[in-house]
Amino acid sequence: MERTLAILKPDCVRKQLIGQVLDRIERAGFRILALRMTWLTREQAEAFYAVHRERDFYPDLVEFMTSGPCVVMALEKENAVADFRALIGATDPAEAAEGTIRHQFADSKQCNIVHGSDTVENGQKEVAFFFGEGEIVRNRVGVM
Ligand code: ATP
Ligand code: MG
Repeated sequence: MERTLAILKPDCVRKQLIGQVLDRIERAGFRILALRMTWLTREQAEAFYAVHRERDFYPDLVEFMTSGPCVVMALEKENAVADFRALIGATDPAEAAEGTIRHQFADSKQCNIVHGSDTVENGQKEVAFFFGEGEIVRNRVGVM
């Protein structure tokens, strides 16, 4: 089993799409291990996207990610990282394949509804960025 971090970004919350996007995520077979609504501080957004700090879009990205509340969640599934990236689609909704969450709901390259970890290693780091092990539900199929 693999873990990945998902963020329903401020545009998703503003557009009242939390339920619809969660439905897509659950129907795709992901199990939610932890979930929290939060409003990122500038420090958190800067640290979370630090890998992009030299990019032109970084200041706007930090502004956007702190523009309202978002929902952070730890997800589990076999091949979770790659499968979640496939489910959400390309960064730019204009390039996202039909049937993907970004194709269905996103407005622009910046306001693209959802974040997904890009590697297994980053998935582990990003889950740990938001959740302590004690916050991660241990129940499994057949146990709940
Ligand atoms: P994420 O990391 O949020 O899952 P991603 O991995 O598809 O998205 P990245 O290249 O990591 O894309 O970019 C991080 C985020 O920065 C994008 O999701 C988007 O919100 C924003 N972003 C990326 N490129 C641009 C751009 N050229 N213009 C505006 N915003 C951008
Ligand atoms: Mg990324």
